[in-house]
Amino acid sequence: MAPLQLTILISVVLIAQLTIFAAVAFYRHWHSFTELKRRLAIWEGHPENNLPLPKTPVPPTDKLAWTDLREFRVDRKVIENKQQTLCSFYLVPVDGKPLPAFKPGQYLTFHLPSADPNKPSIRCYSLSDKPHPDHYRVTIKKEPSGRGSTFFHEQVQVGDILKVKAPAGQFYLDTAETGPIVLIGSGVGITPVLSMLNISLGHSPQRPIWFYYGVRNGEEAIMQEHLNTLATQYPNLHLYLCHSQPKAHEIQGTDYHHAGRIDITLLRLTLPLKPHQFYICGPQAMMDTLVPNLKDWGVPDLHIHYESFGPASPTQSSSPSKHSQSSSDLTVTFSTSGKTIPWQPESASLLEFAEGQGIRVDFGCRAGACGCCTTTLESGEVTYTRTPEAEVNSNTCLLCISIPKTHITLKA
Ligand SMILES: Cc1cc2nc3c(=O)[nH]c(=O)nc-3n(C[C@H](O)[C@H](O)[C@H](O)COP(=O)(O)OP(=O)(O)OC[C@H]3O[C@@H](n4cnc5c(N)ncnc54)[C@H](O)[C@@H]3O)c2cc1C
Repeated sequence: MAPLQLTILISVVLIAQLTIFAAVAFYRHWHSFTELKRRLAIWEGHPENNLPLPKTPVPPTDKLAWTDLREFRVDRKVIENKQQTLCSFYLVPVDGKPLPAFKPGQYLTFHLPSADPNKPSIRCYSLSDKPHPDHYRVTIKKEPSGRGSTFFHEQVQVGDILKVKAPAGQFYLDTAETGPIVLIGSGVGITPVLSMLNISLGHSPQRPIWFYYGVRNGEEAIMQEHLNTLATQYPNLHLYLCHSQPKAHEIQGTDYHHAGRIDITLLRLTLPLKPHQFYICGPQAMMDTLVPNLKDWGVPDLHIHYESFGPASPTQSSSPSKHSQSSSDLTVTFSTSGKTIPWQPESASLLEFAEGQGIRVDFGCRAGACGCCTTTLESGEVTYTRTPEAEVNSNTCLLCISIPKTHITLKA
């Protein structure tokens, strides 16, 4: 072949490659852009649009499946792990009517008996399975000195009646989508992502799923057999059981897949380069590093959905240290108690601040979900450190996830 012909051939091949590359890049960007527009449209339709942009789509007109409380009978109690720290409760409705479906990742709110019958203890527990018309399942970890979880493990017996609010929560999997998803559950944080997994496989069996489950070792783990069976049945399910402190008898490749915690290195090594949606639930330490690391890796905010079972929120726009510059000179007045106290910026929330001052306030989930700490805001404004799930308006605030923005007066 003459040099000129060779040059032309190389040029044509190069131009063809560049064209294909540009077309693929354009398609990816266009896809992300249209997705962003779709979510923005949902957001703009939301009435609380003075709140920070939610990390997950806000359900447009979702109503609770029932109002107030519904009675459920404990049908079965199943200890799930060798350590006996996690127990599943199967709950059947006392009224015998079929149960409504819920969104994968949502939770139930329980009103538990307390010393004062007018002030129940309120605790939230994620639904840990797919919907069944005749029962719900929650899986509860017994926390050392934890009142609610110890009550469930030690006091609640088969046949007992529990009062339960309808499934709720904004941390849920969008089953209308079929793109690849990464489900990450660490410790008891497996519960909502397990529900997502079970529902997703039933709904879209072909959907590519990467499932990471982090525990210290097999004695702490739950439902490993179930997960292994699913991974065998569904070639599109990529399962990673991660043991941070495997027992001497546990064999990598048989009992678990990865020795160590779930971190960004593991994700980067195991995930193909695709626009995944990430759903994460785990302890604060994991969320605090994993969520920012995913962002550094280039995962867009809108692709990262997370929940922690407590006050933690990794992307709090306002960590206590950040508040300090702007809010150290603010005061909080508790009108019922007749106290005006300078705000302490190191307090994570108004709830924590009030408790530290000996002011009696109600609380439940400490995560902006149950609405128990809703308090009248007589004057001033607050900033939310995470998107409230319970209903709020301009005259009230959820103490557990808010800090003062201006001088404020609370009816407490
Ligand atoms: C949306 C949502 C979903 C959830 N889903 C689940 C789920 O699926 N499964 C699950 O197990 N949990 C779940 N939780 C957490 C659950 O709601 C409770 O927070 C958890 O069970 C602890 O409640 P408790 O009453 O046992 O502990 P609390 O009595 O409220 O105590 C809270 C923590 O403080 C510690 N503590 C209590 N007293 C002391 C003391 N004297 N000294 C030192 N430490 C102390 C306890 O160990 C506990 O860790 C969820 C929470 C939310 C917000």
